[in-house]
Amino acid sequence: MRITLNMAVSSEALKSQALELGFNLVGIVVAEPSPTFDAYLRWIGNGMHADMGYMARPDRIVRRQDLQVILPGVRSMVVVGVDYRAEVPESLLTDPARGRFAAYAWHLDYHEWLLPRLEALAAMLGGQPSCAYVDTGALLERSHGWQAGLGFIGKNTLLIHPQRGSYFFLGELLTTLEFDTYDTPTRPTMCGNCTRCLTACPTDAFPAPHVLDSRRCISYHTIENKGHIPHELRPLFGNWVYGCDVCQEVCPWQRFSTLTGVEAFRPTQPERIAPTLLDLLQLTDEAFATRYAHSAIARVKRARLVRNACIAAGNWRDESALTHLQRLLEDEHAIVRAAAAWGMLQIGGSRLQVEAAYQREPDTLTRADIATSLAEHR
Ligand code: SF4
Ligand code: SF4
Repeated sequence: MRITLNMAVSSEALKSQALELGFNLVGIVVAEPSPTFDAYLRWIGNGMHADMGYMARPDRIVRRQDLQVILPGVRSMVVVGVDYRAEVPESLLTDPARGRFAAYAWHLDYHEWLLPRLEALAAMLGGQPSCAYVDTGALLERSHGWQAGLGFIGKNTLLIHPQRGSYFFLGELLTTLEFDTYDTPTRPTMCGNCTRCLTACPTDAFPAPHVLDSRRCISYHTIENKGHIPHELRPLFGNWVYGCDVCQEVCPWQRFSTLTGVEAFRPTQPERIAPTLLDLLQLTDEAFATRYAHSAIARVKRARLVRNACIAAGNWRDESALTHLQRLLEDEHAIVRAAAAWGMLQIGGSRLQVEAAYQREPDTLTRADIATSLAEHR
């Protein structure tokens, strides 16, 4: 299909092209600001975006409020989804000796799969101005997904499709074209009286249904937080070292989730799913760069991942981690030194060595963090 007419474009034709490109879900809506824009402003106003300053940037807020700022003359938004759930041995995920990654990161970085296909879809629109987005843009994409009929927003804040759960990636294409028909939302919510996600969250990160406080969320802290992890949350992280799937894993709608048909989203290496903690604690910059190239994990860099592994090792409480943690007390990154101190004390390692690390620590915040760990483990 190549569209060259100025008249309304066939939505069915574009949808069948999207499905041929490999997307599993596609909806088309009139380009309008997100219906949850006010809730987003309240969320920002309450500081629940933690230190993700980019979410509160004034230029981002303006773009979210008025899609014309992103693409002058925009008339329509195509929203696509692609399944990413894959089957892996449960024993890999529940082994406390392993550090667990969220399922969306087990394979090729989803941006690398979605963006070229969105651009291919845009190319079929006859050269009309368009913009493709995959979670990096200014769009509140889950609510646009809801508008486009791709599912409902659950109390866990995720977009849930009644026939395929929530394990799917989203992408959007803004275009100045008008379509002959548009999709409509499914029901606002289909959660009913269920509260499973709210009660299952290990860190109690939902102050209310549909409201996620990033300041308590394992996903936020293991991926976005560049500093020290709050002490009161560390024991609650379990073996999560990159993201967390608990609030979608427990959702009853997942029983309808579909295994991905995309080869690139099928994980092949345990190191991309749940590497051993002993292995993570020994990770060098070079090994990290090689192993996690073309993976979403690459964005956290080695220091954040090793910091997270130190915390997971502290929760594992196995003495085999002590020699590695002791070495990491002298890591070049302050966040690693502090987490290693906490991990050592959790396992019952040498207090003298942690006290020595405290004495030689040059960074004020890190010194204070190690002091808190020492005070917690008297
Ligand atoms: Fe809680 Fe994990 Fe969901 Fe964050 S991702 S809200 S920590 S269950
Ligand atoms: Fe809704 Fe229950 Fe799923 Fe949470 S677990 S999103 S409350 S259906």
